[in-house]
Amino acid sequence: MYATNLARTGQYRVKRIVEAKRTGPVTETPTDLDQLRRIIDPATRTPAPIRVQGSGSACNYCNTTETGTTIRMTGLDRIVHVDPVNHTTTVQAGVLLGDLVNELAEHGLELAGSYDLAGRTVGGAVAAPCFGPTIGNGGTYFASNVISMKLIRADGQVMKVDSSQANLLGAFRSSFGLLGIIHEVTLRVRPIRTFTASHRRVTIDRFASIIDALANANIGFKFYLMPWRDRVYLDVRRYEADPGSTSATSWKLKDWGESTVLPNVFKSLSRVVPVQSLRYRLADSLSEATQGLVNSRYVTTGSNAASQTNVKGKRGGRRCFYSTWCFPATDFSVVARTYRDFCEAGYAASGYRCDLPAVGYRLGKDSAALLSPSFDEPMIALTSASTQQAGWEDFVIDLAEFAERWGGTPLVSQSRSLRAEHVIQSYSRRLDFFRRLRRKVDADNRFLSPFLAQFMQ
Ligand SMILES: Cc1cc2nc3c(=O)[nH]c(=O)nc-3n(C[C@H](O)[C@H](O)[C@H](O)COP(=O)(O)OP(=O)(O)OC[C@H]3O[C@@H](n4cnc5c(N)ncnc54)[C@H](O)[C@@H]3O)c2cc1C
Repeated sequence: MYATNLARTGQYRVKRIVEAKRTGPVTETPTDLDQLRRIIDPATRTPAPIRVQGSGSACNYCNTTETGTTIRMTGLDRIVHVDPVNHTTTVQAGVLLGDLVNELAEHGLELAGSYDLAGRTVGGAVAAPCFGPTIGNGGTYFASNVISMKLIRADGQVMKVDSSQANLLGAFRSSFGLLGIIHEVTLRVRPIRTFTASHRRVTIDRFASIIDALANANIGFKFYLMPWRDRVYLDVRRYEADPGSTSATSWKLKDWGESTVLPNVFKSLSRVVPVQSLRYRLADSLSEATQGLVNSRYVTTGSNAASQTNVKGKRGGRRCFYSTWCFPATDFSVVARTYRDFCEAGYAASGYRCDLPAVGYRLGKDSAALLSPSFDEPMIALTSASTQQAGWEDFVIDLAEFAERWGGTPLVSQSRSLRAEHVIQSYSRRLDFFRRLRRKVDADNRFLSPFLAQFMQ
């Protein structure tokens, strides 16, 4: 196992260390379009590769470079326009999702899907798959709601792509900053709509027996899978004729418990409770209490506006480590059970386990983006997360092997320990097309970092 693990990560790490010694990285944070254009203009000789970053919440090297230049987009943070008549909004790429959601709510509007994590940027959510417990199939990904976007290409030219060029727009959605740097986006939005949220606690076997039906229903769902308690906590969302009123406070309380209190408490537990088995038992009990008490009792209705979580991106303080893989929904009954076995076997062998529940979402079939992970069929995204750093790197390598074995599709921005051949195989002909387009618009590879070159060259 270790030999494979080293082969998987070693080559890329050596390359990074050698290149980092050659030229140190530069970080630029433009605050207006002219500054951004100047940085990208080939005449400026900005050190390449040039990697664009939103909030930096991706979990691998897709948004950074250890040589060349990283451009942080958070300085371009203006909400340009909200159109309450035509239900659209135009924003700069560095606007945070949470700020946009709040602004839209003042106009009685919301995003067409439910996307957790308020701290990421609109640009990052368009350029990388960004999803949540969206109800139904349309708009699974944030990028699906893009009507048009403005970018700066590697040759310094400004470009606009809109829905009249459907295929091209599909390629520019989820393009990881490789086809151009997005600086402005126009999105479809909609009037706020209330859904009901029901909660259930089931065993993993029971969950496995109902997941097929859930994945094919016109609902949205999120689940928290706890292999150590043989439990799945389900949050099922659906539109009903009379859902009742929504309390934003209960969503805030839920979010605070899950994204702030638990990770911080778990980190402290590792300092004050030295006995590992006791510490994990305590962590599991606290997770169960949060799910059982707060979520099931108080969070019964919501809207995409109210349910937006407040978790910040990486620069808002990294509270946990995570790695996400997508599995075909039709196979997930098997995957859920084998994931439990994988966690148990890994803990027995290495003494490492995640202290946070794994979180999953249903991803409806959505082909709006060329590199959509659920382009062909509904998928279930499963995120393993932990506050414990020691042992995490080996865990994510084993997780990647587990995922590959069970038909997992990697996410270029959210999966750790990616194997290049597996990425190429998973996205296959769509990736071929994308790579051809990338070579055309960036012939000098100015936006291509060594990490992305492994599968995007
Ligand atoms: C605690 C936590 C919870 C999370 N929960 C979820 C979740 O529920 N669902 C989910 O989908 N993801 C989740 N993520 C993952 C992550 O937030 C998403 O991948 C998000 O879309 C990244 O946004 P960002 O602004 O941080 O972009 P970054 O991470 O900075 O960048 C992501 C990619 O987009 C490119 N990019 C960024 N800005 C631009 C631009 N302006 N133009 C062109 N390319 C650009 C980058 O180069 C990079 O390839 C979570 C992350 C954390 C840390």
